[in-house]
Amino acid sequence: MAKYIFVTGGVTSSLGKGIFAASLAKLLQARGYRVTIQKFDPYINVDPGTLNPYEHGECYVTEDGAETDLDLGHYERFLNINTTQANNVTTGRVYQTVINKEREGAYLGKTVQVIPHITDEIKRRMLLLGQTLEYDIVITEIGGTVGDIEALPYIETLRQIRWELEEHDTLVCHLTLIPFLKAAKELKTKPTQHSVKELQTIGVRPDILVCRTEMPLTDDMRKKLALFCNVDRRSVIQALDVDTIYAVPLEMQDENLDITVLKKLQLSAEKPINLDKWREFLDKMRHPKGEVHIGLVGKYIELQDAYKSIHESFIHGGVANNCKVIVEPIHSEYIDEHNVEEKLGHLHAVLVAPGFGNRGIEGKITAIKYVREKGIPFLGICLGMQCAVIEYARNVLGMKTAHSTEMDAKTEYPVIDMMEAQKKVRNKGGTMRLGSYRCDLQKDSLAEKLYGKEHISERHRHRFEFNNKYIADFERAGMIATGKNPENNLVEIVEVPANDFFIGVQFHPELKSTVDAPHPLFTGLVKAAIDYKSGVKKAADVKKAAVRV
Ligand code: GLN
Repeated sequence: MAKYIFVTGGVTSSLGKGIFAASLAKLLQARGYRVTIQKFDPYINVDPGTLNPYEHGECYVTEDGAETDLDLGHYERFLNINTTQANNVTTGRVYQTVINKEREGAYLGKTVQVIPHITDEIKRRMLLLGQTLEYDIVITEIGGTVGDIEALPYIETLRQIRWELEEHDTLVCHLTLIPFLKAAKELKTKPTQHSVKELQTIGVRPDILVCRTEMPLTDDMRKKLALFCNVDRRSVIQALDVDTIYAVPLEMQDENLDITVLKKLQLSAEKPINLDKWREFLDKMRHPKGEVHIGLVGKYIELQDAYKSIHESFIHGGVANNCKVIVEPIHSEYIDEHNVEEKLGHLHAVLVAPGFGNRGIEGKITAIKYVREKGIPFLGICLGMQCAVIEYARNVLGMKTAHSTEMDAKTEYPVIDMMEAQKKVRNKGGTMRLGSYRCDLQKDSLAEKLYGKEHISERHRHRFEFNNKYIADFERAGMIATGKNPENNLVEIVEVPANDFFIGVQFHPELKSTVDAPHPLFTGLVKAAIDYKSGVKKAADVKKAAVRV
């Protein structure tokens, strides 16, 4: 049977429970255990797919097409494993299941209540992955903060699971904040004591305290925390602020977190830990040989979390090239033809981000025209790819009013159009083209060179697509569809071979980049940026795409 580790959070939100869970999982994986992580979110949305990125950051899509919390991205990037629909559960999904069962008559005659019906459903889902025999350890992150009304059923379920299973089969790590009071020049333990008390009133005693802090904890403080929070001394783990999330597993190892956890779960800690690759990654990240500036053109740039996976993929792609990538977020809403040079002229590459709706769309198109004509390396993702198609139609093919029917339903040239399968879709939640689909790459295309193979599969999240009616016009004019879905011929990749690096992809490569396996499109874009910067491929040499329409 699998062992279950629960991660709760106290005092405030945003303490980095996801990063902590991923780091602990990494340490246990590096000791040879098969680990997975799941997240339980206490909001009523059935999944975060309908949330604006400003609300909850990026929506992360899994191989099996689940729209999930961005923490699953951290899990995959740290562990190099795939997660699934089962790894992210929300209160909305739990209630939906229970209410559907009630309508089917599964509880006939009974009053359906939070306890036991909702907690039983939470329990079923919490234990599920551990019963597949695929994992030795399942880590469950409980979203929100202990004390929140909506987190209560989760903590109660956790209490029941602990009561039902053997003592050494479960473990609770409580992540908490030790604030530093500048005026008093002191770290304070009281908020932690209160949040542990809060947990204990619900009947859960944490085994391990993970203390987020700006300053190192003194021995006396560790002793005090242990005494008043009812844990042993070794179980007070210091989590100092660090320069990068990728340093957290090693910081946790220095605190002997893995050994303490394994002992408590009565699992062997004899196998030596192997984190060589991870250390090498961190070392390269901290000592880059050069740097490039890459623009990230999008409309949610005020919030880093909105493009989380893209930022992380740039880190992976940078390390693979021994190069620091300085990502310059550029708000697409404020780009126009008068300021585009000033905003993008100094960049070594540009990525145009995914997105929905009309806001900022013209700025994206203007940015793409500029980088295409200048020969600045370009990667367009999803809406970014669609904008590249619209730009090419307008400025090279002469279809001045070309657009996507998402923005202009009546456009004369619908070069991006709604997918046939989407036309009858009425509900918004979970109905896009989601998850992993196959794609065949054209021989000798840029894509095939970057991937080093002809058949790939990538994750999707969209309703609109390249309109195949125009494919011949585009190809004659120099924009080539170099990646297609083998089943239905959907265009997945477009390139302009006249440029050294101009590629748009309908899928989301950022969702598959990990520390162990940086994504070839990001590695390739960073490499192209380095070349562009060093002048190996001069912008002035860019051959204008031959227009033969
Ligand atoms: N809005 C576009 C579509 O639905 C692109 C989506 C995206 O960028 N993820 O097709």
